[in-house]
Amino acid sequence: MDDRTFRNAMGKFATGVTVVTTAFQGEAKGMTANAFMSVSLDPKLVVVSIGHKARMHDIVKQTGKFAVNILRRDQEELSRLFAGQLKEERPVSFDWVNGHPILPEALANILCNVHSTYVAGDHTLYFGEVTDILMKDEPGDPLLFFEGKYRSIGQ
Ligand code: FAD
Ligand code: NAD
Repeated sequence: MDDRTFRNAMGKFATGVTVVTTAFQGEAKGMTANAFMSVSLDPKLVVVSIGHKARMHDIVKQTGKFAVNILRRDQEELSRLFAGQLKEERPVSFDWVNGHPILPEALANILCNVHSTYVAGDHTLYFGEVTDILMKDEPGDPLLFFEGKYRSIGQ
């Protein structure tokens, strides 16, 4: 099977969009990821799948912690930025919570310590034990990703 057929099929599964962040050598580092899932309530675990070519893979291995920032519908540009899809770099302001750089306008910030890892083909699954959660009081719609395009609810 060719890669395009696989990606087209996986693209039929609509997801939200997250930016995985961590602090590396005192600086914030982020990567856009939609391979994110809630895993367990006891203990509270989530998982993100990170490709071996991504710099974030080696970085999270070293830092042992990460935060998952669930993007809101107006944060498509941040998603493109942290996927390396913008022509120019641009500064991003992070809040810092318990040593984690987080995106303050996200729908939710899920702070984790790496619980375990599992190498699966060309990706590694990073299971995170959730240590803190921050959420906005006001409601907000998520940024969605479907068929390789950004969408929003009702669109
Ligand atoms: P880098 O190339 O090091 O960084 C990515 C970009 O983020 C660069 O432009 C960098 O300048 C910018 N950046 C990083 N930190 C900062 C900062 N502090 N301030 C400002 N800019 C900063 N890949 C996966 O492995 N798993 C997934 O689940 C996944 N899902 C994706 C979902 C979508 C919708 C998209 C568009 C891409 C997805 N990717 C996923 C691909 C992944 O986002 C890119 O391959 C990414 O560029 C690889 O990350 P890197 O660690 O090598 O990033
Ligand atoms: P696309 O058509 O490549 O993505 C559609 C779906 O295919 C994604 O939602 C994901 O489920 C799957 N997919 C894509 N690349 C994958 C990979 N390398 N490993 C495992 N699953 C993958 O959409 P696009 O707009 O062309 O994506 C933009 C870029 O982001 C591409 O370079 C793509 O490879 C990358 N991406 C990577 C992942 C991932 O590594 N898990 C997920 C989404 C997008």
